[in-house]
Amino acid sequence: MLLRHTTKEIQERKALVVNPAKTCQPIGAMYAALGIHRCLPHSHGSQGCCSYHRSTLTRHYREPIMAATSSFTEGTSVFGGQANLIESINNIFTIYDPDIIAVHTTCLSETIGDDVPQIIAKAHADGKIPANKMVIHANTPSYVGSHVTGFANMVKNMVTYFSKSTGAKLAQLNVIPGWIEPADMREIKRLAAIMGINTVLFPDTSNVLDAPQSGRHQFYPKGGVTINQLKTTGDSEATISLGEYTSLPAATALDAKCKVPFYNLDIPIGLTATDRFVQTLHEVTGVAVPDEITDERGRMVDIITDMQQYFHGKRVALFGDPDQLISLTEFLVTLDMRPVYVITGTPGKRFEQRMKDILAESVPEAKYQQAADMFLLHQWIKQEPVDLLIGNTYGKYIARDEDIPFIRFGFPILDRIGHSYLPSVGYAGGIRLLEKLLDALLDRVDTVSSEETFELVM
Ligand code: SF4
Repeated sequence: MLLRHTTKEIQERKALVVNPAKTCQPIGAMYAALGIHRCLPHSHGSQGCCSYHRSTLTRHYREPIMAATSSFTEGTSVFGGQANLIESINNIFTIYDPDIIAVHTTCLSETIGDDVPQIIAKAHADGKIPANKMVIHANTPSYVGSHVTGFANMVKNMVTYFSKSTGAKLAQLNVIPGWIEPADMREIKRLAAIMGINTVLFPDTSNVLDAPQSGRHQFYPKGGVTINQLKTTGDSEATISLGEYTSLPAATALDAKCKVPFYNLDIPIGLTATDRFVQTLHEVTGVAVPDEITDERGRMVDIITDMQQYFHGKRVALFGDPDQLISLTEFLVTLDMRPVYVITGTPGKRFEQRMKDILAESVPEAKYQQAADMFLLHQWIKQEPVDLLIGNTYGKYIARDEDIPFIRFGFPILDRIGHSYLPSVGYAGGIRLLEKLLDALLDRVDTVSSEETFELVM
């Protein structure tokens, strides 16, 4: 296998990343933009970038990802991309008729220094943007941050472009869900709906990237937050933002712009993070938590009780995106497991502080690092093995080399199907994760048991 020659010994590296645990900013911006109804993402750069971003999203979500590109050439690289972008805007509105184009930059257009807001203003002035249509943008230079940063930048700019305060409050709550699967977004809306709470969820990729098969191709599926909904976010009573990395910048911007107070929580993955989410819904709106939700929680606690004997003391390595890892690590600690190695490729010191808060007492031997790569994670595993590896598809190389049970979780998952259709958040999502965890661990027990210890009943 490719990683067979990974060594145990760790050499200090400053200028070399081997097998990054992240991907590039525009992918996040593209995913966020797809969560607006009738939006066509637009990549302001060369065709190669756009193809790569589309294909990664298509492989993960198993849906055709539509996006346009400014299609830079050598000449554009020298003289700038203004003419290409204005022509693209004109062509897109003429041919594909979206309600909104969400432009994101790439390394090349950022290096050239294209001023996208100025180009959009010129397109307006030249009459290339029809009445009632919108063009928004986010700067997503891929040589800083990661796909997580690109997602956060695009979501923040939804506030910058759309949110307005009319002075009259609406009986609704904004929920900024962070980078989670379409099924997770649906699950969050379901929990709020059970409580009778009106929400504006943005972005919302449910019914866009998991739209039902109807036999007819819909270029713009029925899902996504609408422009009118986005405009009302400035009049909402409050905002619940899920994830410091993906959602806090937008929540902060909305508060600064329209004075909408916000509550920043972790993504509700696992028992305690979901408890905090439901409790905050209750405290912000005054709505009592209905029995339906209490019962779901009770079922999850019951399952944890049944399973805990198998989880106790199991050493786990995790990699992925910071907001998801923070909640997932806390969940594993709740289950009495030992998340001994946790890395994210996304830079940001806050990740290490949160890991310290979660792990310092319960798993003092844990190692965690931001802006780290999978090579380092592999080296840690070689030094002292783990019982389970959790991460995106790229983890399968380490799992195979080290013969470790592996659970696919996060982005991208390129070699399995279904992850975007089933939730990981909320109590229902937690139960699904519990089943995956136990199956992975007990399948291994069945595989390695001798004939004498091979048990029918566990
Ligand atoms: S890293 Fe930069 S050049 Fe490469 S695909 Fe991403 S945006 Fe394009």
